[in-house]
Amino acid sequence: MKSRLILLILTLILSISFPVFAESENDSESEVSENVSEEIPTKENFSSKVANMSEVLGIRYAANQDKIRIVVDTSSPTEFKTMWIQNPGRLIIDLDNSWISSTANREMTFNSDFATKLRLAQFDPQTVRIVIETEMTESDSNIFALPGGRSDGRVVIDIGRKIEEPVQDTKQDPDSPGEFKPKEKDESPEEIRQTVPPEPDAPDEKPRKKSKDDKSKDKDSEDKKSKDQKSDDDSKKTETPSKPSKPPRQRIDLSTIPPEVLIEKPLIGKLIAIDPGHGGSDAGAIGPSGLMEKTVTLNISLALRELLESQGAEVIMTRDTDIEVHEKGSRATANEELQARCDVANDAEADIFISVHIDSFTNSTAHGTTTYYDADSKLGFKLADKIRANLIDEIETASRGTQRCNFYVVNKTDMPATLIEVAFISNTDEEKMLGSEEGIMKAAVGIAEGIKIYFEE
Ligand SMILES: [Zn+2]
Repeated sequence: MKSRLILLILTLILSISFPVFAESENDSESEVSENVSEEIPTKENFSSKVANMSEVLGIRYAANQDKIRIVVDTSSPTEFKTMWIQNPGRLIIDLDNSWISSTANREMTFNSDFATKLRLAQFDPQTVRIVIETEMTESDSNIFALPGGRSDGRVVIDIGRKIEEPVQDTKQDPDSPGEFKPKEKDESPEEIRQTVPPEPDAPDEKPRKKSKDDKSKDKDSEDKKSKDQKSDDDSKKTETPSKPSKPPRQRIDLSTIPPEVLIEKPLIGKLIAIDPGHGGSDAGAIGPSGLMEKTVTLNISLALRELLESQGAEVIMTRDTDIEVHEKGSRATANEELQARCDVANDAEADIFISVHIDSFTNSTAHGTTTYYDADSKLGFKLADKIRANLIDEIETASRGTQRCNFYVVNKTDMPATLIEVAFISNTDEEKMLGSEEGIMKAAVGIAEGIKIYFEE
């Protein structure tokens, strides 16, 4: 708790020392100056001051062709003031009696016609200032407080075309925040999937060289091939059992999902395969105090599943208990066991494959985090790299890089895949972290964040 507070104070001081909003051409607009205050809170007054203040926890957004919705999550409801400025166009929102969490993003870039960038800073000891770069005007916007949801307080900023009209549903009125509720809690991805028509075939898709990155898109033709193969096999009376052919996975058409639902659940429509390394008779590596790799990989994977599902993803696990994945159990060969893990993801046509492992080395000083990808897969690299970057931030390990590999499960899965070596179980400090509830949770949060960013960018 103490270290968190110190971190917050440091963040606050840093944000004040580097006034990112200083722009010389604003000198004439003194009443809307974006320069931050010189006043720096001391350690003594900081904790008593923030006790009754609202913490700005983070900022999320979703955009479609009609509007962008930006949501500011705060720990409690806040009062705010807005100002519109032209040349260049900016919307300034001052949140009263607020301070910024150390984990909140200070800058965001939007992929939207209606707003391009957002910056967040502590304007003075009581005020958090949000600056949104936008060429739209006040009449194109609707800004309102919305209680409940993921945080106790929310400020919602809608900017776009015909913003005064109900956007998704005639029953919803943006001017009445109470009714503008995301469907969040009682709509699971499965339910949404059923109500959404299957995506039509993309007509303008250019023929490309088939790679791991788009194998899953060719599933239709592969299914046909395997059917043909099956009838050939039948006529030759081969012994090989062939799997019953199944319809290709139905994907959600995201353009039919209201933007507010996508903000609450950014992973809606994603099917993520998680593979907790080892299991059953295969303990994996074992740490100096006896902690087993198979236990850590399962714990991280279970926490990761929960985080991803809470963001709307559908998750399949190669295992969710202490077992082997292949039906032959401990009698399966190493490759049979690994292929069984790939089959889980390939059969389900998962969008990405995440294999969780813990590293080990004879020299106990070895430490740090590595993620691996298939050299032929650009998306695999992106996935591995985003996860590594966010994971090391969260568990505070050294980076050993995003590396190419020939690991079976990374190479034999059809979708972008990564194998994560979270940290070294052979290192006393890292084993301690991996054996703690906090360490497990942080690792899961880091991986989940990397996955979210992979899909966002
Ligand atoms: Zn392993």
